[in-house]
Amino acid sequence: MYTPIQLKAELLSKGISLTENLINNFSVKYLEKRRAYGNPDPVELRHVRIPQELYLDPENLRLIVSINVETDSEWLLDYMDDIYFLINKNTYFKHIVSFPLKPAFYSQLLENKQKLSQIVTLYGGGSLGIFAYGKCHLVEINKPCHYCSISQNRDKGTDFVLTINPDLIYESVILALQDEECPAKQVMLNGGNFKDRDRSFLHYTSLLKSILRAVRDSGKKIDVHLIVYPPENLELLEELKDLDIGLAMNTEVFDIQLFEQYCPGKVETGGRQHIFDALEKAVSVLGKNKVYSILVGGLEPLESLKSGLTYLADMGVSPVINVLHTDPGTPLENFPKPTVEQILLMGKELQTIYSEYGFLPFYEDCGRNSIDSEAYKGLFQLTS
Ligand code: SF4
Repeated sequence: MYTPIQLKAELLSKGISLTENLINNFSVKYLEKRRAYGNPDPVELRHVRIPQELYLDPENLRLIVSINVETDSEWLLDYMDDIYFLINKNTYFKHIVSFPLKPAFYSQLLENKQKLSQIVTLYGGGSLGIFAYGKCHLVEINKPCHYCSISQNRDKGTDFVLTINPDLIYESVILALQDEECPAKQVMLNGGNFKDRDRSFLHYTSLLKSILRAVRDSGKKIDVHLIVYPPENLELLEELKDLDIGLAMNTEVFDIQLFEQYCPGKVETGGRQHIFDALEKAVSVLGKNKVYSILVGGLEPLESLKSGLTYLADMGVSPVINVLHTDPGTPLENFPKPTVEQILLMGKELQTIYSEYGFLPFYEDCGRNSIDSEAYKGLFQLTS
């Protein structure tokens, strides 16, 4: 018997194998996988319609997990008699699941005749995800972050729009929010970096302001989150003053040697210390519970991850853990994924920090590879 959080840790650690029955019967009413950024699945699945994520608690739809396909996983996602379920091929343990519904806005067209889903996707069943620039300077200089599969995915061709301007983003968000059935509670903006980090930051700031205008004009209460790389000139963070947003600038790896090993491009663009300086400045501009930083869970030992959580929290930054997935074609493709036990331990550490410091999650009820929502809700205590 597994609790839902144990199951989430199992699936993040071991991946999911999809049966033919599942693929042949995956209903069109459910959301199919769109790969705006990277690709964690075997490349032969790129053109197969598969689910993007699944709910482990079909009754209240709050515990979501990413479907990262592992062909030989012990966890199978299967279908029979109108029921979708996970089954463990060793123990035959069975668990019924469901999927986010495909929002009506996916088939809508913009004025320029592009599909809205070429710009906005529903992420984790609760966030309107916009990946606004499908390239990254760190890839161009041959120093991408080792866990990143933006080029492995985008180089194979996608229908996503490569660059998005403020007018297009305004029109897209307004249209998506007109969809009354859309369950989104937040808009999340991110994308790759330009060579000039200040120009890059200002570009994302102007897109962000367009999103905020669209949300205001829609009359809906929706959070707006930006994930961005810090500008070179940290004074530019003042541009965010008085904006009602959540801002994430990601530490990725706390251990300095491992940071330098896995994020070589970021070493060349200011390094880990520059990210900390930017986070400190952002807290002074935006305040507590507005600034976040993601750590990749599984790239460093628990002890250094724990030190990173405390270090960030003491700065007034809410740490977030995204569990590592080792994507095909990346330098980490054969790197061992964190074990179930390691994921549960990192979740407990995050949970302790959230309760001590009173932080809120970044991916509230929509974190498919992240475990911040579950830590915030105290779910990891059930496993101790
Ligand atoms: S900064 Fe790193 S993770 Fe982000 S898009 Fe560039 S290479 Fe990928």
